[in-house]
Formats: sequence, structure tokens, C-alpha cells
Amino acid sequence: MSKMLVAVLVGLTVAAAPVGTSEKIDAEINAKIRAEADKNSQIMRTMHYLTDVYGPRLTGSPNHKAAGEWAIKQMTEWGFKNGHLEPWPFVNADGSPRPGWLNERFSGFIISPTTDSLVGEVLAWTPSTRGTVTAQAVNIVAPTSPTQAELDAWIAETTPKIKGKIVLVGAPTIVKVNLEPPALRRNDDDLKRQFDPNTAPGDGRGGPGRGNAPAAPPDPTRLNAGAVNTAVNAMIMKAGIAVRLNDAGRDHGQIRAFQNNTYDPAKAPPTVVLRNEDYGRIARILADGTPVTLEFNIVNRDYPGGTSYNAIAEIPGTDKADEVVMLGGHLDSWHSATGATDNAIGCAVMMEAARILQAIGVKPRRTIRVALWGGEEQGLLGSKAYVAQHFGTAENPKPEFDKFNGYFNVDSGTGRIRGGSVFGPPEGAAALREIFKPFEDLGVMGVTATNSRRSGGTDSTTFNEAGLPGIGLQQDPIEYNTYTWHTNLDTYERIIEEDVKKSATSIASALYHLAMRDEMLPRFAKDAMPAPPPPPGQGRGGNPAQR
Ligand SMILES: [Zn+2]
Repeated sequence: MSKMLVAVLVGLTVAAAPVGTSEKIDAEINAKIRAEADKNSQIMRTMHYLTDVYGPRLTGSPNHKAAGEWAIKQMTEWGFKNGHLEPWPFVNADGSPRPGWLNERFSGFIISPTTDSLVGEVLAWTPSTRGTVTAQAVNIVAPTSPTQAELDAWIAETTPKIKGKIVLVGAPTIVKVNLEPPALRRNDDDLKRQFDPNTAPGDGRGGPGRGNAPAAPPDPTRLNAGAVNTAVNAMIMKAGIAVRLNDAGRDHGQIRAFQNNTYDPAKAPPTVVLRNEDYGRIARILADGTPVTLEFNIVNRDYPGGTSYNAIAEIPGTDKADEVVMLGGHLDSWHSATGATDNAIGCAVMMEAARILQAIGVKPRRTIRVALWGGEEQGLLGSKAYVAQHFGTAENPKPEFDKFNGYFNVDSGTGRIRGGSVFGPPEGAAALREIFKPFEDLGVMGVTATNSRRSGGTDSTTFNEAGLPGIGLQQDPIEYNTYTWHTNLDTYERIIEEDVKKSATSIASALYHLAMRDEMLPRFAKDAMPAPPPPPGQGRGGNPAQR
């Protein structure tokens, strides 16, 4: 085929959209996007900086800020404009500042009856040990569903036993061998069914619902696990222990370490999440009646707090420059690895999608804005602050609310994009479905509409909550929920370059088409806007540490 003929065919495709569709798909641009994504990909270079150089990127830490500064510098070098860190208050409910925090050193050993190194991760926003501490280990297991009197008796008996000790809190988890590992990729036919507008359930999540057996009414004389935990934490602080040890409770040495929920290192003991294998070993030796001596040295550092940042940069639009199409992911991570799949990759893919358009010389009609959020892991804090400040809500809109044309979000690891869910009427999903259609060969199987304004899980839902079209992109699972999400294994090595290049390709095209479209992305009309979610406290309380 000659070059000339290709050009003619491409031209025809642009001019004549297939019957039954309304989107103008620019096949020539799509071909350029594919070529740029394939030949000049910057994703792995971006990943190297965000993970190896600047990770981990815990919200409020200097690493997180430095990663944001690097991303802005990089996007500016690519030709983006208006790059800046946008501050937002990282504070407690009472307005007091949350400090920045980093773990600098950790070591743990069994000293007797054997000698060995221990593998663990320090809980965020907990204090250092006072130098190297050596103490007897004690394993405490609080009673299940006790009455208040039973719990009080247990606390009175336990408190003197833990003073000055290294305390294993809870029985070791027995992690069974998984004989049926979950699939790494999703099946094409399943996905096609999920994203078929005629069969999709409507929220784009699909999949079988979990059967909810009616729960027995709680016995009002018995305390629930939350109440018992609170009492155990108070006992531990009052007794004054050397180190608290929690069981990671996962297989193959995986550790998920979250935070001291008070964000105040003065309100928790030095705390380590030990790998299940070490926690179980110590607990089993103690259960023999054999004393165990452990040694720990933890050095954590606090930084002045109260402020965190979103990193923002733009490709300015032309005739519709006051309208904006956004894309992004959260830049903050947990601290026990370098946060590659959660979520440096979401940032790298979105930076790349916009870079591709810049590199092929696109002049978008609407402004394209990349946002790399902070504070996602503490409850979508950065995106919530941004949306409140710039857009408001459907009920209380700011002028920019009416100029908003969608926000693409990636936050499910390294798997390639398989489809999406957009907040809005079916027409919005239909437009995006047509825009993504040319990328079925890369695995993208469609887009469904959702009308849920409940936020949670990731930053696209912040936009949904406000009544704006957040576009949550769904991905192949690969090792996300099984191995890398929030674990000490979440590093650069877990990224599949082939997959993330595909994601950047399809997103770049969707971004381009939303930026060029004559009309805005269809949104709910005022009178069709679903009601906002119930105010905090009336909904189900989520634990941000489990996010
Ligand atoms: Zn995430």
C-alpha cells in the first residue's frame, strides 16, 4: 500500500463516521498517537523518577512534594504550561496540622531463644524507639465480643503483664495456601458483556453481587471489635510498652502498613507490622511457654505539617480554552515500598497521554489539565480540596463547574485499560464508547454510565460526588489486589511496560476527542441530577486506612 493511499483512506474515515454513530473519530490522529506512544514512550523513565528516586511518597512527606516538583519540571520541559504545586490544608478534623512523617531506619531481631533477623514495616505516624530497645515479647489476645465487665477484667489482668514489653497484639493469622489463584487478565467476552449498554447494570462495575445474608441483630450487652480495639489501644498507651507488633496476616512475606489513625506520633507506641511468618513464629514459640527476647531500632522523622499539594500542569486550549478536560491519578503512596502500581503508574500514564498529544503537535480546542493528587490514601483529600475550590457542586456551583468536560482517572495498577465508567447520562457513556472503539485491539471494551455520587475508592469519585463527569478507568487486575496494592512489594519491577503503553495510547485518544468535540461531553441536566450522597456520619463509615 502506498503512502498516498493510506492518506486517502484515513481522510475518508475521518469524514464519514460509521452509520449510527455521532462521534467524529480522527483516524489520522489516532495513528499518530499510536506511533508516538510506541516509539517515544517516556512512561518507564517517569516511573523510575517517581518510584526509585522520589518514592515512597507519603502525603505530607518531603518525598511527596519533591516528586510533585519533579513532575511539574518534567511536564514544563515537554511544553506544558501553568505547572504549579497547588497547596491544600493537610489537617485534622479540629484544624490542627498533620505532620509530615518518614521512616528512616528499621531493624528487628530475635535475640533469644534463637537469633535471627525479622522482616517488618513501621506503621506511619508512629514514634521512633528510644535507640535500640531489647525486651521480652508478650502475645495478647483480647476477648471476642466481650461484655464491658469481661473486657475490664481482661484489661486489669493484662496491663501489668505488658509494661515495658514488646507486645504482639492479636493471635497470628493462619494464611491458607491459595489453590485457585485469581486470573491476571480479564476475559474479553466477560468485558464485552459488562460494557454492553443493553446488558450493563448501570454502574459499570458489573460482576456478581456478594450475597448478603441477613445479619443477626447485635447483642447490646456485647462490645464490637471496634470498641475492643479502642480499649486495647488505650490500655497499651497507659501501660507504656516498648514496641507494638501487628501481624501482617498475608502470604509470602507481604506486608501492608497503614497509619496511626490519630496522625500524632505522641499518641501511639512505636509500632511495627511484622510479616506473618515472623509474627507466627514468635507467637508459636511463646505458646510453648518459652520466653522470647526481641530487639528493635526504629528511627522516624517528623516534618512541619499542615499543608500538602496537588501537582497541576496544562496544555492550554484554543477557541474553547475556558473549558477543561482533566486527567490524573494520585501521586501520594503508602510508605513500605515505592508506590509503583499505587499509584505512580496512574500519574505516569496520564503525564504520558498528555505528552503524546503535545509531541504530535495537537492544538486542543479545550484546555487539557493534568492533576497529580495528594492525600488520596487518607480519604481523597487532595482531589476533594481541588474540586471544592475550583468547581463546587451541582447544588452550589462555581463558574468553572459549567465548563468542565470530564476527568479521566487511573488507579488500579499496571493492567491495561479495559473500559470505563462515567458519571452522567447514557449519552455521555455512548460518546466515550465510540471514542474508545478504535482501541478494542488494545483491550478497551467499552464505557458504561453511573449515576452514583457516593465518593470512595479513588479520585474520579470526588468529581462524581460533586455532580461532575468523573471517568473511572477499569483495568486488568494483574497482581494489584493480590500482591502489590498497599504492600511492601509495590515497586518499579511490577510494571508491565507493554500494558501501560497501551493505556496511555487509548487515553491520549479519548483526551484528544473530548478536547476537540463541538459539544461538551453530555452531562446530567440540572433537573436530572441525582441527589447528593448523605452527609458524613449518615453513610457507611469507611476506614481510610483500608483504602
Ligand atoms: Zn491508589
